[in-house]
Amino acid sequence: MSRSGIKALCLVSGGLDSALAARLMQEQNIDIIALYFVNPFGSCGEREEGAPPRRVAESLGVDLMAVPFEPDYLDVISHPCHGYGSNVNPCIDCRIYMLRQARKIMDGLGASFVVTGEVVGQRPMSQKLNAMRCIEKASTLEGYLVRPLSAQLLSPTIPEEKGWIRREELLAISGRSRKDLMRLARDKGLTGYASPGGGCLLTDPRFAEKMRDTMSHNELTENAVSLLKVGRHFRLPLGSKLVIGRNEAENESLAGLATEQDTLLDTVSDPGPIAVLQGGRASEEEELAARMVARYSDGKSSSVVTVSIGSPEGVRTLDVEPMNPQEVGSLMI
Ligand code: SF4
Repeated sequence: MSRSGIKALCLVSGGLDSALAARLMQEQNIDIIALYFVNPFGSCGEREEGAPPRRVAESLGVDLMAVPFEPDYLDVISHPCHGYGSNVNPCIDCRIYMLRQARKIMDGLGASFVVTGEVVGQRPMSQKLNAMRCIEKASTLEGYLVRPLSAQLLSPTIPEEKGWIRREELLAISGRSRKDLMRLARDKGLTGYASPGGGCLLTDPRFAEKMRDTMSHNELTENAVSLLKVGRHFRLPLGSKLVIGRNEAENESLAGLATEQDTLLDTVSDPGPIAVLQGGRASEEEELAARMVARYSDGKSSSVVTVSIGSPEGVRTLDVEPMNPQEVGSLMI
């Protein structure tokens, strides 16, 4: 327990900013609880899961609390009140969602306020001054959200007014440059944070296309999100979805992700990929799917490839002619 006896919940992503924000609080004798939200799409600053937040927590000398996002996060993505950024990243709604969860955890743990590593002007959507005010208000944390890296550019918070933390020791950083932040981290002995880059899949244009397709077919579920991260994706003419593995690891993942309602395709006569076929009219599109799977097998130049089709009705094999590359390409999402 610190000398002040005050606890704060600090959202860490594994990146530099939140690590530095937490360290600034520790320097003011605030006890830090490091909270990492496990977002199925990755977090803002880094995409590596697990290790960087844990390493940051180690560097801060605290335990890490990892909390997965609830399935209702998918509603935030499909119907964001504040719209999307450049792809399907609903950053403002995402921050509000995260901070509302943080508020509940803060209350449950008896912490006095929440700390984030946000920097005014660092991100185009959620870190504009107005957006930061709107997020704070909607998060149910008004007055109890401390952003130490830009605090002097923002209105004083209740922890500052009550004298729990000293405003003059907080920072006035803004903009996208990371030079000052990196220098400060070095001076404060912080290590283990992830380099910026990678980031949230919702900001990735290729992934966003697949997400849009999934949302437009009302298929956004936790299982669909896991599938979106694996394989080549196709939308068939009657509306079924086909996912074909690109390598051994993806074939294994697909086999693990297929549910009892899905159809699993596998080439029998030639080495080839595993594929998952989903959708209400999948049984009518099995032959088409088999021709596509054959196209990605070692038998793609043969006139006939045998494909096994394991559907909820049972397993059968089908001899099919591999589809030509143009036709397969036209169905790719
Ligand atoms: S980039 Fe936007 S949508 Fe993705 S985790 Fe960050 S705030 Fe959320």
